[in-house]
Amino acid sequence: MKKMLLINPHPPGRHGEESIHVIVQMPLNLAYIAALTPGDWEFDVVDENIKLALDEKEQEITFEPPDLVAITALTYQAPRAYRIAMACRKRGIPVIMGGIHASVCSEEAVQYVDAVITGEAETVWPEVIRDFEQGQLKKIYNGGLPPLSVLKKVYPNRELLKKKYGYKFSSIITTKGCPNRCDFCSVPTFQGQKFRERPYEDVLDEMAATDYKGLMFAEDNFYGHSVKSAERAKNLFRGMIDRNLGKNWLGFTALNIGLDPEALQLMTKSGCFGFLVGIESTNEQVLQKMNKKVNLRLGTTSYKDCIKKVHDAGLIVWGSVVFGADGDDKDSFKRMVDFILDCQVDILTYGLDCPFPKTPLFYRLDAERRLFRKNFPWDWQYYETAHIVHRLVDMTLDDFVNGMQYVYDHLYAGDNLRMRFKNSIKATGNPRNSMFALRVSQDWDQVFKQVLENLHKLQESGDYYKDCYKETGKTAVSLSGTA
Ligand code: SF4
Repeated sequence: MKKMLLINPHPPGRHGEESIHVIVQMPLNLAYIAALTPGDWEFDVVDENIKLALDEKEQEITFEPPDLVAITALTYQAPRAYRIAMACRKRGIPVIMGGIHASVCSEEAVQYVDAVITGEAETVWPEVIRDFEQGQLKKIYNGGLPPLSVLKKVYPNRELLKKKYGYKFSSIITTKGCPNRCDFCSVPTFQGQKFRERPYEDVLDEMAATDYKGLMFAEDNFYGHSVKSAERAKNLFRGMIDRNLGKNWLGFTALNIGLDPEALQLMTKSGCFGFLVGIESTNEQVLQKMNKKVNLRLGTTSYKDCIKKVHDAGLIVWGSVVFGADGDDKDSFKRMVDFILDCQVDILTYGLDCPFPKTPLFYRLDAERRLFRKNFPWDWQYYETAHIVHRLVDMTLDDFVNGMQYVYDHLYAGDNLRMRFKNSIKATGNPRNSMFALRVSQDWDQVFKQVLENLHKLQESGDYYKDCYKETGKTAVSLSGTA
């Protein structure tokens, strides 16, 4: 029987969302690959969050050579994925790469691996395997963006990954794509601007088929962008209640769900902890620049009321914000802290404004010659919201570092988490959900400390002031073409 190794690469020592242990999740796309593979294959998995695939020098593999390696990568993981691929190919092991980065930068990825899959693998993977078995692997396969009804009977092989690493949580796909075009976001580029909804009965069947109690809805908006989508989401929650599925779940959506008390009640009854929402900024000029229309339509003056309605339903609000966007100045950190405390946002996590490849933000900052990490592909390791990769316009780097320290000191350090936990219980009346919020925040504390460390290293290195455009001799346009 042929052996396939599925790899989730991870730069050693990094702490990010994957360090939130309370919801530590399996790489779901690898579980799908195992389920979609036709014929007789034996699988193994290496998740580098747990076990490294390379030796310390990043030269040699640490696993038994399989017949084929399948690897997935977000942008920050791509350099590590390429190093693993180089070590594999040195040993004659073919490597196929998919995921967001390979889709967005396929012309780059193809230089390091035997084949690249762009888009989604569901419909194209069986063809890739047939070609491999016949020794006719092509360089690029385009899986496109199929309707989510293709997932009807294809359930990811969660058991394979759980057996190896015992993940506590799993994600589940209920929608994909986004009709909006926020300047920093890679979802419309990678998943398309059509909002694709999976038939809710299929989702319920998959939920019933897995013994995972902890589920994260994988997409960026489970509730959707129209009355029809909202009704579909509510049917999903009703189904979870009627079938007594007993899941503990959370997901991502926009704050306008606070205007739909029926949805909130159904979410609570179906086992929801709360949801993660992209607050991004409380400054409408910054939101305009980001093109964050979904927040602008609601209006920042409505945030507080919506958050209260979510709390009244017993759910927690996990606010995600962006620091370092154009328009943010040195006072924006205090404004954000005041807002979080005033509205009693239960969890506050953030991303440093990051120009992911081929997003409008990347093209704009590149055209303005403001990126100072451009040694691609290796500098992609910094494109992950825990580093700054562009020069700020409305404050100095020192202002920025001091501002981030202010946020840490006033929301995380000392007694702050305990105080916020108490306030969360008061606001939601739901100790289970507030305890969940506290545990996420405790894990994020480690992530936050690493961000501060990254920023201090940047201050000391002087890299922030590098003119990459001059040093590389390449124009902004020629480099953006490879991103
Ligand atoms: S940030 Fe959210 S609303 Fe904006 S484009 Fe991305 S997924 Fe859509």
